[in-house]
This record gives sequence, structure tokens and C-alpha cells, in this order.
Amino acid sequence: MHTLALRGALSLRGMRALVVPMAAAVAFSAFGAVTARADGEVNVYSFREPYLIDPILKTFTHETGIKVNVIYSKDGLIERMAAEGQNSPADLLLTQESGLLIQAKAAGVTQPLQSKVIDAAIDASLRDPEGHWFALTRRARVVYASKERVTQTAITYEELADPKWKGKICIRSGQHTYNIALIASMIAHHGEAEAEKWLTGLRDNLARKPAGGDREGVKDVKAGLCDLAIGNSYYMAAMLKNPEQKAWAESVNMLFPNAGDRGTHVNISGAALAAHAPHRDNAVKLIEFLASPEAQEIYADRNGEYPVIAAAHPSELVKSWGELKADPLPLSEIAGLRKKASELVDKVRFDAGPSS
Ligand code: FE
Repeated sequence: MHTLALRGALSLRGMRALVVPMAAAVAFSAFGAVTARADGEVNVYSFREPYLIDPILKTFTHETGIKVNVIYSKDGLIERMAAEGQNSPADLLLTQESGLLIQAKAAGVTQPLQSKVIDAAIDASLRDPEGHWFALTRRARVVYASKERVTQTAITYEELADPKWKGKICIRSGQHTYNIALIASMIAHHGEAEAEKWLTGLRDNLARKPAGGDREGVKDVKAGLCDLAIGNSYYMAAMLKNPEQKAWAESVNMLFPNAGDRGTHVNISGAALAAHAPHRDNAVKLIEFLASPEAQEIYADRNGEYPVIAAAHPSELVKSWGELKADPLPLSEIAGLRKKASELVDKVRFDAGPSS
């Protein structure tokens, strides 16, 4: 497997020049000109970090003999695919969240995939209705509650707007994709007017202006700045592994909102087949492998996430959080409400902070 870190925006020519085989024994054709030969390859553009997916891709290569070439980047991959057009070497796009999958489909850089294997393995609520993308892992958007100052063991998203939490909640920017998906789900469940009231109430309960990442919220709970922080479930696993952050993690309980009714809002990491995939058959093989119990367990375990197929089990740590009751709202419905959610964040001046 070849890996390549991209720095900034590069022309296609520049990118070709950058692709260097890491294993000298393997002849690697230029990434942009691999169409004619190399049946035994597949090219992946990945927003996900190497440590999360390298182990699975290595297993895939070991089992199939198909080489996997990966371009990793934190941003710009969809624009790159669009600019490359029909000459794009990309076969498969991997993303760390659903907004990018929706963006990729809208940009025309994906193609639909009809696969009985995928359809049987992954629930329809976790796939694009037209087959352009599907989930590979799930994470819950949970409430991290101070062990010292919060005694309740259950919560709802609705309750976060209750004045009893005034000055006690920390959260990252309302415009961040994780919050946009959550707010979109609130619009889907309650309608726009109710969602606006809720978001205004939540804003007024904030301890500080929305800032930082999900982990900073937990850090601020530990520091006593807030009692509740909203964050993705896998950050608990990440903080526990990090010596500096372990104490933050240990200062909070994880509450899974709405576990007693409709279920907790979940988001996904996922994949999409590239529009012009030069190694389409191999890409489909890789996609189907990623949906296998074996790959699912490796993938979910690496990042403390939940598998998307029933036959795969979460890690012991994730299991210790209890059975996940996920909100069954289809991701495609959330996708359709993202723009409204973003407008609502601006309208209530959420990022300006409490009583703005
Ligand atoms: Fe994250």
C-alpha cells in the first residue's frame, strides 16, 4: 500500500510528481495514468487519517492481492476530483463524516452503486437512496456530563434548552458539520419554528461562545467552566488514549440523549464510488470488503466507533457504554435540511454566544 500526504492545493501534474511508492518493490504507475493496466490496483482518496484505515487496507491487499494506493488529505479532495474530471484516477472516496459525502454527490464526482452485498449489509437509513454513498462507521452525538455536578443519568436534546442549564453548556461552533447534522435532525423531528426556539434556548444556556472542538468542551467541564459538553462519542475513546486528556474523559459521564424515546442522533463516516473510477471492479470489491464483519470490526475499533452492520461488534470500550439506540431518521433526510440548519444558526446568532 502506498500512502501520500498532500500539502495544500496542487495541480494534477504536481500531484503525479508527488506520488511515490513507499514500498520500493512495487512498481507504481503515475496516479493519473493508471487506466490501461494494473488490474490489481485501486486508488483511494481519503479524508480519513492513515492510522484509521491503513490496517483495513493492508488486510484487503493481503486477502485479495489488490494493491491500494491512497491519497490522504484533510481537505480539497472533492474539488480535486471535480477538477480532474474524466481523467481522475480516484476509484473510491472515504470521508470522516456525512456532509462531505453529500457534497461529493452534489459535485457530480460520485456514481451510483448497485450491490446486493452492500444493500444486504447496510441499513437503508445509512445509505444514499440513489446508491451514491453509504456509511462505514457510526458515532453518537452525546452529552458529556460532569460526574461532580450532574446527577441525572438520562437526558434529551430538547432538555438542553431548559433554563435549568443556564450558563452550564459548552459546545463547538454551531456551523460545524456535526452540529449542523444534529440541528437538521431537530428540524426534521419538530419543524423549523420549534427548532428555532430550541436553538435559541440552547444558545442562552451556553457557558461561553461556541468554540474549539468537541474535546475542548469536555476539558472545560473538567475545569468547571460548564457542566455539560456536547460531543461525538468516539472522542471518549480518543481522550482515554491520550495521557493529557485522560483526566478530562474521567471527569464526565456519557449521556446518550433521547435513549428513552426516538434514539440518539448518529452521524457517520462513509464511502462513495468515484464517478469515473478507472478500477471500478476493484473499487466495488474494496467497498464490499469494508462492509464485511472483519473490516467493520477493525475500522470501528480503531476510532472507538460503532460498526454499521449487525454482524460486527463494537470494541469492549464502546460496548461498556451500553447498547446504542440510534435515531432511525434517514441520513438523506438530514442532508436535505443542512442548509436550513445552517441558516438557523446564523439567524439566532448562535456563535455569538449566550443572550446575544
Ligand atoms: Fe471528529
